[in-house]
Order: sequence, then C-alpha cells, then structure tokens
Amino acid sequence: MADTRHTKVLIIGSGPAGYTAGVYASRAMLEPILLQGLEPGGQLTTTTDVENYPGFTEVQGPDLMIKMEEHARATGTEIISDIITDLDLSKRPFTANSDSGTVYTADAIILATGARAKWLGLDSEEKFKGFGVSACATCDGFFYRGMEIVVVGGGNTAVEEALFLTNFASKVTLIHRRDELRSERILADRLMKNPKIDPLWFNELIEVVGEDNPKGVTGVKVKHTKTGEITEIPCKGVFIAIGHAPANELVKHVLETHMGGYVVTQPDSTATSIPGVFAAGDLTDHKYRQAVTSAGMGCMAALEAERFLAEQEG
Ligand code: FAD
Ligand code: NAP
Repeated sequence: MADTRHTKVLIIGSGPAGYTAGVYASRAMLEPILLQGLEPGGQLTTTTDVENYPGFTEVQGPDLMIKMEEHARATGTEIISDIITDLDLSKRPFTANSDSGTVYTADAIILATGARAKWLGLDSEEKFKGFGVSACATCDGFFYRGMEIVVVGGGNTAVEEALFLTNFASKVTLIHRRDELRSERILADRLMKNPKIDPLWFNELIEVVGEDNPKGVTGVKVKHTKTGEITEIPCKGVFIAIGHAPANELVKHVLETHMGGYVVTQPDSTATSIPGVFAAGDLTDHKYRQAVTSAGMGCMAALEAERFLAEQEG
C-alpha cells in the first residue's frame, strides 16, 4: 500500500521560490514539506556567477542554492527528494502523487516548479541533443575545449553562456534573429568587447548538421531573416539559449494560465483560481523571472498560505 504523508503546506519545487516559501512557512510553525523535483536548487544550479542577488556581490549559482536549502532546512522545512507526477486539486485536502509512490496530502499547496529551457523544435536539434546540442553551457561547456561553437539567442542566458563558453572554445558565434540584444547592458558590453565572440545578427538556425558515426555535430545552417540567404557555419557544439517556458504540466488543465502558460495569480498576490493553491516564481512570472523576485514571491505565498489556513481554522 502507498505511503501517505499529510502536511499543512506542501511546497513543490526547490528553486529560490520554493526554499524561501520553506523558510517563511517553517517560521509560521506550519511544518512544511518541500519536494525538490528533478533539479534540486532549480535553474541557478545551471549557471556560474550570480552578480545580482542582494547580499552577494558575486556568488556561484549552485553555492547560493545550497545556502538557501540549508536555510530552509535549519528553519524546519522537511526537504524530500521526490517528483510530483500528478495533482488532485478538486477537493481539500489536496492530493499529490509522486514518483517514489508516496502520496502527499496537504491543506495548502505552494507551486514553485519554475521554468525549463525552450528548444527550437527542429528534428536535427532533437537528433543531436546530447551529441553536440545542449541547453546548458555550465554542464557541457568543458567538452568543447579548443573547438568552435555557436550559441543561439539574444537574452541574458545566451549572452552569459557565450561569455562563459569563451573559457573553453576557440571561437563562439552568437546567432541572433535581430541586431539588438535583450540582455542587460552590462552583459551586452562584455559580449561586444570579447575578442572570441562573433555576433551574427539577423540570422536563424534552421538545421544542425552532423555525422552519424561517430554521432556528432559538424556545423549549423543559418538563414538570414531579411535576405533569406543560407550559410553553413562549422562548429562542434550548439548551445540553444532562447528562453524558458513555465513548468506548468501539473496544473495547466486546472488552473488559468496566460502569456504562453504562466499560471495566473490574483493582483498583488500568489493566490491562484483555486483557494488554498498558491503559485510563486518563474511558474507565474512572465515579466521579471529573476532569483530575487522568485524568492519574494515564495515569501508572499507562504504568508498567504498561513493566512488562508488560519481563516479555515477560524
Ligand atoms: P526554478 O529555479 O526554475 O526551480 C524550479 C524547481 O521546481 C526545481 O527545483 C525543480 O526540480 C522543481 N520541480 C519542477 N517540477 C517539479 C515536480 N513535478 N515535482 C517536484 N519538483 C518539481 N536570475 C537572477 O536573478 N540572476 C542570475 O544571475 C540568473 N542567472 C540565470 C542563469 C541561467 C542559465 C538561467 C537559466 C536562469 C538564470 N536566472 C538568474 C533566472 C533564475 O534562475 C530564475 O528566475 C529562478 O531560478 C526561478 O526560481 P523558481 O524558484 O521559480 O524556479
Ligand atoms: P529571454 O529573455 O526570453 O530571451 C530569449 C532570447 O531568445 C531572445 O533574444 C529571443 O529573441 C530569442 N529567441 C526566442 N525564441 C527564439 C527562436 N525560436 N529562435 C531564435 N531566437 C529566439 O530568455 P533568457 O535569456 O533565457 O532569460 C529568461 C529570464 O531569466 C529573463 O527574465 C532573464 O532576465 C533571466 N536571467 C537573468 C540573468 C541575470 O540576471 N544575469 C541571467 C540569465 C537569465 P528576441 O530578442 O528577438 O525576442
């Protein structure tokens, strides 16, 4: 028979939103359970320098997330390595089935499942994923020492990844569909000054080219967005950094979403359309998507869950 655990507050996700919710819910004596999911620590574990989290002039993403985990644990959050596979939000207590087989029931739920990397959706991209195509420079950059690589995108992630990859690659081509970067100015300036990075404006990647035996990338085909001209760029690695989509699989059919799947919350609140279910961080934020805003929303969600539970008891 499945093991069942009941908690007043179940926090799903272990990024800045989840851990901050854990700190606040624990200090409200709600004895929360937090489930870490497949990526303990969330997106910041896939990056290196974080330079804009208050209190840290510079900190490594994974180190910051270890500190957040320790903080949540020290305040009393029970942190479990488990993945929620489906949720029943039709009645309270809510029920969450998990990969381990444990069934979690909860009087309130804080959804903090964050976001995941987007892909271009090309067959050739799929074919060479893990064989030269990646969405994580910190995970895979090391394999491309002395080689030429391309990065696709024009936001903070693409620029940071291109800069980071210059530690390994002989040359990095940044392929962007416009001639203006979306990234912060300070990052764009660093990119433009880096002699190893060659921006390729007004181009879109249309095909990853490679060999089957041994399986690996040899180049990419790009198409000029204005002239339609197709060019092939030789490279061994292709890093896709075209943004992130909310990880809404658990709730997309039961909660209202907008702007490409972000969970809708009430104004100035983390309350969703189901009383007792709160959403925080990148899952709900189509606008700022920062560690500090996610942490702020985690705090809000825990305080709102506390008030909700107090009202129910009252
Ligand atoms: P996430 O960090 O996305 O964490 C989501 C969590 O949910 C994960 O732990 C995952 O395992 C868990 N989860 C998902 N599904 C389930 C499930 N079914 N069951 C259980 N758990 C689940 N922001 C900054 O402010 N500064 C930066 O320098 C910065 N650098 C970045 C660099 C990169 C490469 C990237 C990708 C992002 C960067 N960001 C940065 C953005 C920042 O990482 C995000 O805004 C932030 O991590 C969002 O936090 P979150 O808690 O909402 O979710
Ligand atoms: P993003 O800001 O949404 O940028 C995505 C980039 O990819 C854009 O330049 C976009 O082009 C391009 N793009 C999107 N779809 C494409 C497609 N199909 N083909 C080609 N190009 C495509 O995403 P992000 O850079 O991953 O950042 C996500 C969030 O995390 C942001 O809020 C960001 O600030 C945050 N973040 C912060 C830091 C930091 O603070 N240092 C670091 C990383 C991420 P257009 O510009 O033409 O739309």
